[in-house]
Amino acid sequence: MSVIRSDEIISILKEEIANFDMVTRALETGSVISVGDGIATVYGIDHAMYGEIVIFENGVKGMVQDIRRNEIGCIIFGKDTGICEGTKVTRTKKQAGISVSEACLGRVVNALGAPIDGKGELPQGEYLPMEQEAPGIVERKSVSVPMETGILAIDSMFPIGRGQRELIIGDRQTGKTSIATDTILNQKGKDMICIYVAIGQKASTVAKIVSTFTQNDAMDYTIVVTSMASDPASLQYIAPYAGTAIAEYFMKKGKDVLIVYDDLSKHAVAYRALSLLLERSPGREAYPGDVFYLHSRLLERSSRLNEAAGGGSITALPIIETQDGDVSAYIPTNVISITDGQIFLESDLFNSGMRPAVNVGLSVSRVGGAAQTKAMKKAAGSIRIDLAQYREMEVFTQFSSDLDAATKEQLQYGKGLMELLKQPLGCPLSLSEQVLTLVLATRKVMLDVPVSKVKQFQKDILEYFKTEQSPIVQEIEETKTLTDQLMDEILEAARAYKSRFR
Ligand code: ATP
Ligand code: MG
Repeated sequence: MSVIRSDEIISILKEEIANFDMVTRALETGSVISVGDGIATVYGIDHAMYGEIVIFENGVKGMVQDIRRNEIGCIIFGKDTGICEGTKVTRTKKQAGISVSEACLGRVVNALGAPIDGKGELPQGEYLPMEQEAPGIVERKSVSVPMETGILAIDSMFPIGRGQRELIIGDRQTGKTSIATDTILNQKGKDMICIYVAIGQKASTVAKIVSTFTQNDAMDYTIVVTSMASDPASLQYIAPYAGTAIAEYFMKKGKDVLIVYDDLSKHAVAYRALSLLLERSPGREAYPGDVFYLHSRLLERSSRLNEAAGGGSITALPIIETQDGDVSAYIPTNVISITDGQIFLESDLFNSGMRPAVNVGLSVSRVGGAAQTKAMKKAAGSIRIDLAQYREMEVFTQFSSDLDAATKEQLQYGKGLMELLKQPLGCPLSLSEQVLTLVLATRKVMLDVPVSKVKQFQKDILEYFKTEQSPIVQEIEETKTLTDQLMDEILEAARAYKSRFR
């Protein structure tokens, strides 16, 4: 009678495990069965992992996105013209990744990390996976440091903190990109690294943005990751993940990073195209079932790490384009529910000259309040409610002619506020400028200034504070608080300024 000994079984199993790799190595190359629309079906690579990079005979890379019993589906990162039936495909056993180093700063790269600005090759850096798990709760810290956009309408009412994710949402041509680029310009000298990810944009638009950054010396701390409208959907799909991998490299080093995804609507469309070509079943609006996960796993990687984990942060400004102001469509609702607030831009406001066209009623910042400076919080006071009241009152007083004095005053005050919130492109306001403007507005110092002259008055009085009342400006910038005494000093100075012109 033969006896089966357990150590014998173990040794056989061990041998099997040790030889396992030998078997896979023999099956490392496969060949293309069919190719088209940026998708290749490959036979013969049985052990390929989901998300693994494969290389085609002509050097083009692909990523495994679909694993079936006998074949795998790959998306192709480049032109599929050189690939045909029978083309050899090799496994790399590596997940999709991007090489990142400090040298990336100031460069324009494509979704695979290759420079496209004609300034030469980038040195080999750290190879970081594009898809990375988001930091866990233990590694995180709550948001408490402001990320100043320099835009009064946002910093005063919808403050954004470092590590927050704030959505910029609005119809086409409502100034979404402008808010993001102005925010990047405002980060000069604030120890922030900015990454602008262009997804499915026209090459001319990206070139314009890069030239704006260059002209304003913003490229020193900025990296632009692009996937143009002419690029294959596969590259548009991975671009935001590549951008986030770069951001994580800097976050792990303790830096604060700002990343803009412009825009995630086009990202979702690119992913829908890929999914349909891979024959996944379509769901609502023909998007695949995992389109929520597409954006949630991306945005969840923006966070603020605690000191033990490195202490850096990633602040995300994703952009979504709506159709006719419809925020309840599939992709907008998804991203609204993932982010920590949204800035809603409205076409009607934009066309009536209110720029930036922030809709005060529909915008919100869910965590930024904790990050707002004390000075700003005190100065802004109830401006949001005042504006809401004004807009309501404006609607039902437009037909009546005889209004009582109190109503007239409130209308005048509201009009002045709206005027003050207008801000041209590329003119960020510093903390002290914003605080002074808000104090003067909410204390009704500007009430007797005609609405058409409010902007000029604001400019002049800020200049006056800068040149003749510099201790006040300095105190705000340094202490970042607004004491009652300082408030009185500001009002005193403003009165002195006004009496000069009387
Ligand atoms: P798209 O849907 O095409 O991406 P968008 O919503 O990103 O458009 P922008 O490209 O930022 O909008 O802006 C549209 C136009 O409005 C631009 O020509 C820009 O110069 C102008 N614009 C945006 N913001 C302002 C502003 N605050 N003041 C003056 N002009 C502005
Ligand atoms: Mg845009």
